Amino acid sequence: MRETERIGSLKGIGEKTENLFRKVGVDTVGDILRYYPRGFEIFEDPVPIGSVEEGKISTVAGSVFGRIQVSGNQRMQVTTLCLKDLTGTIKVIWFRMPFLRNTLGKGGVLFLRGRVVRKKDGLMMEHPEIYYPAAKYEEKIHTMQPVYPLTAGLTNNAVIKAVRQALSCANAKTDILPEELSEKYHFMAYEEAVRNMHFPKDKEHFAAARERFVFEEFLVFILSLRQMKEAENRAKNRFVLADQEKINGFLEALPYRLTDAQLKVWGEIKEDMQGEHVMSRLVQGDVGSGKTVVAFLALLLAGLNGYQGALMAPTEVLARQHYENISGMLKDYDLPMEAQLLTGSMTAAQKRGAYERIQSGEASIIIGTHALIQEKAVYQELALVVTDEQHRFGVRQREALAGKGAMPHILVMSATPIPRTLAIILYGDLDISVIDEMPKNRLPIKNCVVDTGYREKAYDFMKKQIAQGRQCYVICPMVEESESLDAENVMDYSQTLQDEMGGAVRVGCLHGKMKQQEKDAVMDAFGRNEIQILVSTTVVEVGIDVPNATVIMIENAERFGLAQLHQLRGRVGRGKHQSYCIFMSASKSDETKERLDILNHSNDGFFIAGEDLRLRGPGDLFGIRQSGILDFKVADVFQDAKILKNASEEAELILKDDPELGQPRYMRLKKHIGSKIQKIMLETTL
Ligand code: ADP
Ligand code: MG
Repeated sequence: MRETERIGSLKGIGEKTENLFRKVGVDTVGDILRYYPRGFEIFEDPVPIGSVEEGKISTVAGSVFGRIQVSGNQRMQVTTLCLKDLTGTIKVIWFRMPFLRNTLGKGGVLFLRGRVVRKKDGLMMEHPEIYYPAAKYEEKIHTMQPVYPLTAGLTNNAVIKAVRQALSCANAKTDILPEELSEKYHFMAYEEAVRNMHFPKDKEHFAAARERFVFEEFLVFILSLRQMKEAENRAKNRFVLADQEKINGFLEALPYRLTDAQLKVWGEIKEDMQGEHVMSRLVQGDVGSGKTVVAFLALLLAGLNGYQGALMAPTEVLARQHYENISGMLKDYDLPMEAQLLTGSMTAAQKRGAYERIQSGEASIIIGTHALIQEKAVYQELALVVTDEQHRFGVRQREALAGKGAMPHILVMSATPIPRTLAIILYGDLDISVIDEMPKNRLPIKNCVVDTGYREKAYDFMKKQIAQGRQCYVICPMVEESESLDAENVMDYSQTLQDEMGGAVRVGCLHGKMKQQEKDAVMDAFGRNEIQILVSTTVVEVGIDVPNATVIMIENAERFGLAQLHQLRGRVGRGKHQSYCIFMSASKSDETKERLDILNHSNDGFFIAGEDLRLRGPGDLFGIRQSGILDFKVADVFQDAKILKNASEEAELILKDDPELGQPRYMRLKKHIGSKIQKIMLETTL
């Protein structure tokens, strides 16, 4: 048997089962070897009946004591028996299995494995698995039985049978890892490792086998990304953008000077866009580091060269803010081009107008939400796509927007401070620039962590700031995972706060349930200082820029992740005034204290992210988990960070040694990478 043969060529797999396997992504014999269990059942020694514990899954062994009874009605027949060993008896019941009375009534020792529950007349075992005759259990004792991910109609047993057969074709010849790597890291031999992934001898053997495949999975993934990146990098730059004197003029006229870090990154972007190959670059910079103006320069360069550029934001509020900001700059600095907004909530007529201006080329800078990637938007000549705060975007959306032009330049802006190892995985296909310096006019934000008893004082403090002309955010306490409850809560809160503040101060509110126009109106009013206090859910978290706001008070701070709190705090400290962040928390737990303390003492996003990772462990940091791209079969980027590092170093070495992977020892690896790339491409097209 060969790995490439259809799964249907295994014994006992007919057309129906073959289709079921196909549904779970198993087409060939080789595929099933890589169809790993999602967990294992461990078959322990039976426990004495006298010492079973409530709530646990246990195995008991004994003989039937007394009669086996079947009661209940036709629809729900209940079979009951008592099992007895030297230490006691336990009642056992099954539902809808009346035939058991005959099969189990023949005497002899019976092994039952199931959950022990407490009912009014004592402990009993509910619906256990039956091992009869006893040898059926004894052969499994101390083994780990695989539990596979299934689909309706496909049983665990069917998978086990198929894997058992397929194992015969797992030999060194089908191993894809080059031998010298197996040796270097002392990996378990391929054949043994495959066997132990499915039917491990014990936990230690499984761990050893798993390590090998984690490494393999990372290696294949990184090499695939690298090859994709190479292919893209090799893609010719169809939009070579010439330098424009107007840009220097704009930079001179700006009221501030770009920081050295901004200039360096702008230089890298320009070099890319003027180079031989198309750009795909990630710009990382902490909140407030000034990414928007850098993105604007890139869009400007595209526009001045007669092309179009698009800027995609994760929320409508943010898209509109960018639009207003950018069209304001175009006008104020006398830059000869038009900006166009395109968002989902625009009326049909507005959209039609927008599509027209986009298609005719009248609009050079197009700003919007995911509406930008809808089919109806046809661009005249799209040379650049910028996505802002991209951790909120799926990879697919990015790729789809890229597909609107003939390989436009791609620029991704992100405030998410991602540790280096993760960046390799998430952005392995991008070059990375970092804005690692804050504008000079900034005073560091002053932080404090207080309990709810401080609330009155906080309100007084806000009044004083407002009297000096400043503005404030209050991030409202979260109630539940329910948007309507949160909305209600925000409204109540702002009403109470309004009463507290009196007529001279206007309190506005913002929450996810509001219509887009209402949100825009509130944001506009806040931007013009017609509203002095904005009470909001976390809607404001991403990117909003109102430099005149100097206070942010976060209620229930203990309920947010550190990275999110850091993003929220980033809404202030964006201008020349001293800013303040008040973390309000009712929680007295040490863990909360430690977490908030980190924020209290640091304004550095990278440091905070690292601490978050340390405290929370492999949690779903920054929502990265949901991005799909991290769905590895066995590997876990957090837990296996060390293997990831090794694999990425080896990938470098391999590519240095043989960029095309042409040597015979890389042959199987190369084939594997080919199909992995195909899969990634498939997953990233809409
Ligand atoms: P972010 O990186 O979080 O997207 P923004 O681009 O929104 O930050 O910039 C935050 C604020 O800083 C904006 O009001 C912007 O005008 C201002 N800004 C950007 N660059 C500089 C600079 N070099 N000096 C002073 N202010 C700057
Ligand atoms: Mg921003």
